[in-house]
Amino acid sequence: MKLEHKELKRDIDPFPPIGCYLLDLYCQWENPEHKYNEFPHQFTAEKGSTCRKEARKKGWKFSDGFATCPKCAKILLENKSLK
Ligand SMILES: [Zn+2]
Repeated sequence: MKLEHKELKRDIDPFPPIGCYLLDLYCQWENPEHKYNEFPHQFTAEKGSTCRKEARKKGWKFSDGFATCPKCAKILLENKSLK
C-alpha cells in the first residue's frame, strides 16, 4: 500500500534531548481492536510526571500500576454507563 506523505504523522522525536524521560505504554487489556504493532505508545518529556500527564490527555488511564489505552478506556466507560 502506498502511503501519502500527508498521512504520515510523526510524534516521537528520534533524538530526544539529554535528560529526557521516555515512557513506553502497553495496554493491560486484551482487545481485538489493538493493532499488532500498536504498542508501545511512547511519551517523552523532561519528567515522568509530564509524560503521564501527556498520556492522560490522549486518553490513557492509570490505576494500580497498570495502564489502559484510550480504546479500552472508552469501552470500559461505555460498559460502566450500561450498568
Ligand atoms: Zn487497550
